[in-house]
Amino acid sequence: MRKSRMSEVQRQAVAEVEEVYRELEELGLARNCVGRTRCCRFRLTGRTPMLTAGEALVAARGVRAAGRKTLPESGTAAAASEGTCPLLGQDGRCSIYLQRPFGCRTHFCEAAGGNYPRSVVRRLIHRLEEVAERLGDSDVRALESAVSRVLQER
Ligand code: SF4
Repeated sequence: MRKSRMSEVQRQAVAEVEEVYRELEELGLARNCVGRTRCCRFRLTGRTPMLTAGEALVAARGVRAAGRKTLPESGTAAAASEGTCPLLGQDGRCSIYLQRPFGCRTHFCEAAGGNYPRSVVRRLIHRLEEVAERLGDSDVRALESAVSRVLQER
C-alpha cells in the first residue's frame, strides 16, 4: 500500500518547529559541548528526550534525509545497556544533528553549561505545544517511539 504524503498541516508544523530551533540558536546562549555524548545515553543519565508531535516530524525527516526508512538497530550490547540513542552514529555524532529535538538542544549536561534557564525556553516550548495541538496530537513521547511512529505512518 502506498504511504501517505505529508499534509499541508504537517508541512506547516515542520516549518514552525524549524523556526523555533532557529530562534533558540539565535539566542546565542553560551554552550561548551565537547561531544562527550553522555546525554545521548539515556540509561546513564536517567533522562530520555521527550518529543512533541512536530519535533517528531522534524526528527523523522532527518532520519529519511540520512537515507533510512526506519531507526537503526541499537548496535552493541554495551550500547543497549547504556540506552544509547539509536540516532547516535558510530562516529560518536548525532546522525540528525540539524533536526535533533528541542531537548537535545537544551540538555542538562553540566560540562556543556547545564540547563538553559527555564524562563528563556518557556516561550519556545509553548510554541512547540501549540504546533502539536494544531496537529491534533498533544501527547509527548520518548524519542525512539516518537520518531518510529512517524516513520511507520509515512
Ligand atoms: S537525537 Fe542526536 S543529540 Fe539527541 S539523543 Fe539522539 S543522538 Fe543525541
